[in-house]
Amino acid sequence: MREFNAVVLGAGGVGKSALTCRFVKDVFVETYDPTIEEEYSRELVVDGVWSRLEVLDTAGAEQFTAFNEVYIKSGMGFILVFSLTQEATLREVDNLRRQIYRVKGANARVPMVVVGTKSDLTTEREVSKSIIERLAAAWNLPFYETSAKKNWHINDVFEDLVRQMRDRYPPK
Ligand code: GDP
Ligand code: MG
Repeated sequence: MREFNAVVLGAGGVGKSALTCRFVKDVFVETYDPTIEEEYSRELVVDGVWSRLEVLDTAGAEQFTAFNEVYIKSGMGFILVFSLTQEATLREVDNLRRQIYRVKGANARVPMVVVGTKSDLTTEREVSKSIIERLAAAWNLPFYETSAKKNWHINDVFEDLVRQMRDRYPPK
């Protein structure tokens, strides 16, 4: 079975741990210690083929970019997370995206997915679908609206990333 690793990055409180726990354990963790950083592992079938995926749920504060650099170097794929209920968290996605290309090389093909979380909180929503679709198109990255609470489109995120990583890292 092929093995891949993914790094979950984004501003504090956007739902990185909730997304990761929903994918890895199929539970919604309402309150997760924001300082805990942990690596999980799960096997999944994508297009009929099994893979093992290591997922690193990061907890570093945004300003410690030196930490990010270590993750970015060792990461094969990246999940860039912001909250649909907090427009300001989109800026961190753009920063991370730029940082990843700085580390991997400006023209590198880097498996990446942009994720807007908390889509169940419709009345608190701050980021319209058209805004994020326009941004994702400009960035040339796939985008998913998810809810870890309701388990909406969580698997789509990880399946998309596995497809990209298979493409990018073909078996030797
Ligand atoms: P992290 O700091 O990025 O790891 O964020 P957490 O995963 O700890 O989530 C921060 C807060 O947002 C917690 O109170 C979660 O319960 C809440 N949260 C995360 N995902 C969702 C979601 O999909 N829907 C709702 N309603 N709340 C969420
Ligand atoms: Mg967390």
